[in-house]
Amino acid sequence: MRLREIQVAGWERVVEARDGAYHALIALHSTVLGPAVGGTRLWRYASTGDALHDVLRLSRGMTYKSALAGLDAGGGKSVILAPERIEDRAALFRAHGRAVQALGGAYVTADDVGTRAGDMDFIGEETAHVVGLSARSGDPSPRTARGVFRAIEAAVQHRSGAEGVRGLRVAVQGCGGVGRSLVSELRRAGAEVAVADVDAARADAVAAELGAEVVTPDVIHAIDADVFAPCALGGVLNEASIPELRAGIVAGGANNQLREPEDGARLAERGILYVPDYVANAGGVITGVHELRGRPAREAAARVEAIFDTATRVLRRAAQAGIPPHQAAGQLAEERIASAAGPLP
Ligand code: NAD
Repeated sequence: MRLREIQVAGWERVVEARDGAYHALIALHSTVLGPAVGGTRLWRYASTGDALHDVLRLSRGMTYKSALAGLDAGGGKSVILAPERIEDRAALFRAHGRAVQALGGAYVTADDVGTRAGDMDFIGEETAHVVGLSARSGDPSPRTARGVFRAIEAAVQHRSGAEGVRGLRVAVQGCGGVGRSLVSELRRAGAEVAVADVDAARADAVAAELGAEVVTPDVIHAIDADVFAPCALGGVLNEASIPELRAGIVAGGANNQLREPEDGARLAERGILYVPDYVANAGGVITGVHELRGRPAREAAARVEAIFDTATRVLRRAAQAGIPPHQAAGQLAEERIASAAGPLP
């Protein structure tokens, strides 16, 4: 295993790790509040520079997500630069486990895009600094979806004073782990739901099982709905899509929903209430950090429920200060980090 330090202003530590076919970048953005937590992404990057850009951006996002979720954890991320063909998946993730171990617990990893069931177990053969092992908390999607649901409830109450989502219409983009569980939460609470997925069979299955209308993926963001919940890819809120939105509220599980920071202002200018993605989708990291600390599942569940309060605080700060919610969330996260010794909210 060869580890090379990369100096990046604003990041505590960035490491490039190589071992045979294994090539990864690990970024520790902040450990002020606790170990830097953040998943491992397995992705085909055009260049190491692209991978570095991704790991820096994602690790900083994790610092904010953990801080606002009230966790005693910081922010980090790792990306494995996927080779053209993965000959030995177990060896690849074991090598990553050794790299994580070499950081001595300053970084704790978990699932992310490109990983699948069992990958964390390979990492776990080499290090204890991993969460999401199949024998422990497993798939975080239902908890993430529960947090998104609470964020939607908070936005609805902030906007109209209404309690709950009964009778509202919600457009859910993506019927994967998070989207499907979110549809289930929404239906249980009496909302009407429309769904879309590029994998039409997935959308059809969710609609049939849970009772939802299916629309095509190219229009889901623009249908007549009260809430738009992006639960697929990042970058869906952008210069082209924002003018087409008809929902008054956007809150969903996808990471990095704003293509660029100005898109947060574009939403605010249109009077659309946006719950920042990392506020709404913190359920997974909350569960992971509780697993790491050996805390009971009910404590994690209570903190996921409290996403309602965090989202409310963010939306109130934004309204009072006359700034878009993504800026208000950033301020609240930075304030918590600055007063690092403070109690958990
Ligand atoms: P997933 O891969 O299970 O599901 C994503 C779904 O979106 C798939 O069914 C896919 O076909 C669909 N999709 C892709 N492009 C689409 C498009 N253009 N229009 C409609 N559907 C499209 O992923 P997931 O675990 O459900 O995660 C969804 C999002 O939430 C991702 O952005 C992920 O990073 C984020 N997230 C997930 C968790 C978690 O706990 N799983 C936690 C935090 C954030």
